[in-house]
Amino acid sequence: MTFIRYSGSHLCSDHFKAYVEKRVKREIRRQLRLSRGSKIACALSGGKDSSVAAYLLHQILGKRRDVELSAVTVDEGIAEYRPASLEHAERLSKQLGLEHRVITYKELVGWEMDAVVAADPETIPCSYCGVFRRKALNVLANLVDADYLATGLNLDDTVQSIMMNMGRADLDKLARMGPHESVQPGLVPRLQPLRTIPEKEVYLYALVEGIEFYDGTCPYAERAERNRYREVIHVLEKDAPGTRHSLLSTYEALKPLLVERYPPADLSPCEKCGDPTVNRVCKACQLVGQLARLSQAAQ
Ligand code: SF4
Ligand code: ZN
Repeated sequence: MTFIRYSGSHLCSDHFKAYVEKRVKREIRRQLRLSRGSKIACALSGGKDSSVAAYLLHQILGKRRDVELSAVTVDEGIAEYRPASLEHAERLSKQLGLEHRVITYKELVGWEMDAVVAADPETIPCSYCGVFRRKALNVLANLVDADYLATGLNLDDTVQSIMMNMGRADLDKLARMGPHESVQPGLVPRLQPLRTIPEKEVYLYALVEGIEFYDGTCPYAERAERNRYREVIHVLEKDAPGTRHSLLSTYEALKPLLVERYPPADLSPCEKCGDPTVNRVCKACQLVGQLARLSQAAQ
């Protein structure tokens, strides 16, 4: 029996599963605009969130003839962490019968994350990794000609991102958070089927449904700015259950105003790699340039 604090309900495992699935189906219906032959690439890291998202998308849309699902994985080059999770991603893709593609940071930008951290030891690794991952996922999604890129972002991740962008007063980014309703050329819109499901429920769903996943954490995760927001949101939710959902619905209500005030900027191809960017050179290429300068200075 599971107790859901924010709704005050006690659920047996069957009702718990149905409770999760109902909300995921609702989100998919709300976010997805299917046309004949729509392709959805599931960003599958092998962790619990992306594994549950891919599994549920397969359960809900797998039999439809007008939808084609595949899986894509980014290998950041973190020796302590990624090889084991990659195995899980491969196994689940096989189980679900999904074509699986992997791209490494090494082939994408010429740097593995372990080498990035060695070259710039003072940095918060996620500030590089987040930029490279966005690029990698977009490259992968375009490679498989996907109409949507589905991620495993859960409610906690979503609310953390909202609060982080507010904390930095990054209203442009706040307006541009997924799921995306309009499509920008060269950028694949995000689909976020788990965005209303709390992290603990995703974890429990994986256990109840017997979905295998990799339970390790990235060794660089503790340096992430996100952790401070995670702690604050945890305290708020503990004291007043339902706060995460309220923060999300406040954001949803404000989003149309934000989008109107901060419309998408015109994108042009990056001078170095050709990916769409608002600047002359995209953020990923700027970071690669920074790494080259750092390693030259160290020689
Ligand atoms: Fe990359 Fe940071 Fe995630 Fe580790 S925690 S995989 S460094 S974004
Ligand atoms: Zn570039």
